[in-house]
This record gives sequence, C-alpha cells and structure tokens, in this order.
Amino acid sequence: KFNTNVGQHILKNPGVAEAIVQKANLKPSDTVLEVGPGTGNLTVRILEKAKKVIAVELDPRMAAELTKRVQGKPEQKRLEVLLGDVIKTELPHFDVCISNTPYQISSPLVFKLLALPNPPRTSILMFQREFALRLTARPGDALYCRLSVNAQFWAKITHVMKVGKNNFKPPPQVESSVVRIEPKIGSERPGVSWDEWDGMLRICFVRRSRTMRASWMGSKEVLAMVERNYRVWCAMNDVALDETPVGEDDEMEIDAAPEEEEEWGGIMDEDGVDDEEQQRIAREAGSKTKSKKKKTRVAELVREKIRKVLEDVTELADKRAGKCDENDFLRLLFAFNEEGIHFA
Ligand code: SAM
Repeated sequence: KFNTNVGQHILKNPGVAEAIVQKANLKPSDTVLEVGPGTGNLTVRILEKAKKVIAVELDPRMAAELTKRVQGKPEQKRLEVLLGDVIKTELPHFDVCISNTPYQISSPLVFKLLALPNPPRTSILMFQREFALRLTARPGDALYCRLSVNAQFWAKITHVMKVGKNNFKPPPQVESSVVRIEPKIGSERPGVSWDEWDGMLRICFVRRSRTMRASWMGSKEVLAMVERNYRVWCAMNDVALDETPVGEDDEMEIDAAPEEEEEWGGIMDEDGVDDEEQQRIAREAGSKTKSKKKKTRVAELVREKIRKVLEDVTELADKRAGKCDENDFLRLLFAFNEEGIHFA
C-alpha cells in the first residue's frame, strides 16, 4: 500500500505526532502548510490548533484518504488539499510549516522555505537524522556543507527531538530527527542577495575539503563561469575589455590539490549534492564555452582578480570550504563583488 519511493513512512506513534504539533506553538489565527500529509495523522492535530491547513500531497490516493477523513466534519472547510509536488507548487502565504518530510525532497524543501520572500515564522520538519545533523553542522564538522552554511545564514536552526525508526509504518532504514527552522527576519536578515550568496557557495563547496585556491582557480569550468559573469557585469557598467588574444599554454591545472583525507574520512564524498553541483557547473560551462572564441586578456584579468581576492584581500586561498565560517564567506563575497565579480 505504501510507496516508499516517495517517502511514505506514516507516523504511527500518536505521541510523536502530538509532540510535533505542540513544538510548532501554533496560534488560532495561523495558516499552516503541511507537506506530504499522507493519511492525515498530523493534519487532524494541526486543524485542532490552527485556523487553516494547506496540505500539499503528491499521491492522489493519500490526498483522497485525507479528504475522506475530514469529510462532513466542521474542519473540512479549513483544510485545503493541493495535489502535486510541493517543490513545483506555487505556495500561498502561510505562517508555519509542518512536515514529516519525504526524505527525497529534504534539501529542495529547505531551500524553498528559506528563499521565500515572505518566509513562515517557523517550520517544524522531520528529517533523516543525518540530514538534520547537516543542517546544524558547524565549520570543521564532517557533515558541514553548503546546506549548513545556507540554512544557518538565513535562519536559526535547532534540533528539537530524535525519533526512532519504529515510530513509522513501514519503518525507514535510518533514524529521524525533528528540526525547527526560524528564518531571520527584519534587521536580522542578511542584506545579501540569496542568488549571489548561494551562487558563490556552490563553487566553494563543489568539494568541501578542497582549498579555495583549487576550487576557484583549478577548474576551467569555474574560471569560464566567472569570466562569463564578469563580462555581463562589464557590459552593464560600460567597462571596456581588452580582448587581445593570448596563448593557452599558460593554463595551469591545480585541480589535484591535496585533500585532507584523514580528517574527512569517507563521509564527505557521500555528499551527492556536491558531486551533482560539480557536474552541473561543468555541463553549464561546457555548453556555453564550446562556441567561445580564443582566450583573451579578459581571462587573464579574471584569473588575476580571483588570485587577488583569495590571496591578498581575504587570505582564504589555503583554507578549505569545510573550515570556513559565515564571516569568511561574507568577506569572500564582498571582495569578489568589489572586483566586479558576481554570482547571480
Ligand atoms: N504526514 C504523514 C505522516 O506523518 O504520517 C505522511 C508522511 S510521509 C513520510 C510523506 C508523504 O509525502 C507521503 O504521503 C508522500 O506521498 C508525500 N510526498 C512525497 N513526495 C512529495 C512531494 N514532492 N510533494 C508533496 N508530497 C510528497
């Protein structure tokens, strides 16, 4: 009956369902987004505390079951079921998000919630334990990654409770954790563009254990991408470019910079997100550079700008992304921007 390919692990322990809803500190005026309501174990409890529930469910059979569960009851009017993939759904405004999250969409869901122009006051989300640990990981931790930096940059993240696999039917393979995400609002919200920040982090975290120098200067694809962005900025700011051709011979490959294997162990390479990112950058650069003319002085200029930012301005060239904190990344972004290098 359950389709575990879309993460259908139904919460069977009423105590846990009760605790999740209680942790959301709902107000009677709240509109709540529930992601993946399944058969509605959380939904009916949320409806007791909130004004309205918008439940987004991918599986029509589950959506039908949920609809049946409230049919003819007074709360029927306060439940809106949207059929579809929450990641692709345009969401109306809501105050709180509650979800026993299908684990396949953990990362895109967090990014979607954090990037909303008008983010919810709080989100109470159940994740696989390792994902929860990634969200809260600090610089130097084995699980510290782009997700950790982004999540903690835009929100306050707290680990709320551990949930054992036997609380679910069917039990998943791994343990779970409930996490609270409270987006920074007003003056606490960083005055940085989401796309710029994330665009830069994508490059820094292609490999967490790689030095900044290797990440930025050791990959033709990254250099090509930065050059392309720089050209756009120059065009928009009426900056003339020196297109004198130069030879390709001086191409330096420092991709193979030594990595701190002993410290990161096997865990870091399990991070599929980073590998995907590397492939994405390569694909994008490849598709856009094929038709490119011969290398010009602009490429040299861009390379020199990157060197200056990493070595002279921020002195982060030898530091690995996995050890950099929020302040390091902020300094890096400002230094790149100062050189006319943007990521969005
Ligand atoms: N909330 C229920 C509970 O706690 O018992 C069910 C949770 S179950 C882990 C995840 C639910 O999300 C399933 O009902 C599944 O069909 C649904 N789902 C999976 N992928 C989804 C997506 N992309 N968008 C919306 N719902 C999704």
